[in-house]
Amino acid sequence: MTDPAPQSDILDLGAPGLSAWLKARGIAPYRTAQILRWICLRQMDRFEDMTDLGKDLREELAQNFTIPRLDVLERAESSDGSEKFLFGLADGQSVEAVLMPERDHHTLCVSSQIGCAMGCAFCRTGAEGLSRNLTAGEMVAQVRDVLAMLQGPDRLTNLVFMGMGEPLANYENLRTALSLILDAHQGLSFAGRRVTVSTAGLASKIVGLGQDTRVNLAISLNAVDDETRSAIMPVNRIHPIRDLLAACDAFPLRPGRRITFEYVLLAGVNDSLAEARELARMLSPRRAKINLIPFNPHDRAPYERPDEAAVLAFQQVLLKANFTAVIRQSKGADIAAACGQLRAARQGVSE
Ligand code: SAH
Ligand code: SF4
Repeated sequence: MTDPAPQSDILDLGAPGLSAWLKARGIAPYRTAQILRWICLRQMDRFEDMTDLGKDLREELAQNFTIPRLDVLERAESSDGSEKFLFGLADGQSVEAVLMPERDHHTLCVSSQIGCAMGCAFCRTGAEGLSRNLTAGEMVAQVRDVLAMLQGPDRLTNLVFMGMGEPLANYENLRTALSLILDAHQGLSFAGRRVTVSTAGLASKIVGLGQDTRVNLAISLNAVDDETRSAIMPVNRIHPIRDLLAACDAFPLRPGRRITFEYVLLAGVNDSLAEARELARMLSPRRAKINLIPFNPHDRAPYERPDEAAVLAFQQVLLKANFTAVIRQSKGADIAAACGQLRAARQGVSE
């Protein structure tokens, strides 16, 4: 392995990469856990403060690595209690995360890319195209930095990779980030059952996610026939519904867990009762729960949000078929926190 460039983000290496870096210098691998525990568990920002490491090692680490914090460009609270962060990155780009309070814990919505290449027709992030992948360190930092900002009884226990970007299109970095986020010994110690990765349907990556990590899977299904789905989600032309469901069936689903299927409701496009019945039929053999998300309007998509009666009627069909079907409002709509809209607003693009 070649050395990382001078002053790279230490979290980009992950635990195995850091162990290899240490080993190449003749340093015992158990130092990896010591270093990562300072950073992840104790929120330490400087190598020189890592008092159980020798002075030489501290200096060598400081010469080679940084422990970056993200710049908080904006932090705003919404009337629904959610809080959005716009984080500035080292190269001047910015990325969003949204903190959502629930009854006894908080959930953080994490971004995996700047922009997104998948081009879903209803999505504000998709309208921008892809700027770049986030590094593993930038994904971990969203979580680590928000943990550091939380005070008092606010507990951040749940994560959803449902912010900007398609996590499975940035798989290697996602995997490195998740391994640090989930590691109870030397990482951020999140429980796998409290972390969810949402995908638009990169079917070929789904089984690997389940083999490599213990996280939950969410699928943005959004339509029940290939014609409609391909029209709103171009990825469906490569991975049609049948392949996507086959990948879900092959996902190593742990006992007591279910796959979440998300369904953005677009008036007149995918919100008929016939489609609700078809959704129930399609998912009935599966351990599934359904999140219904009424479309959050913005100026880059020609769709409308169905009225409340239509949303409730759609939900009713699913409830009658014995599904857990929850209506999820896009959190923080009044602070433009829904999926890519905050960053767009900041860039001066009208919403
Ligand atoms: N790329 C991943 C994760 C980020 S998108 C994915 O597509 O699953 C997170 C969720 O937001 C997806 O379920 C997507 O369908 C939904 N979404 C995107 N734009 C939306 C909008 N304008 N209104 C409501 N939901 C939207
Ligand atoms: Fe990308 Fe997800 Fe938006 Fe589709 S819905 S464009 S996959 S972020």
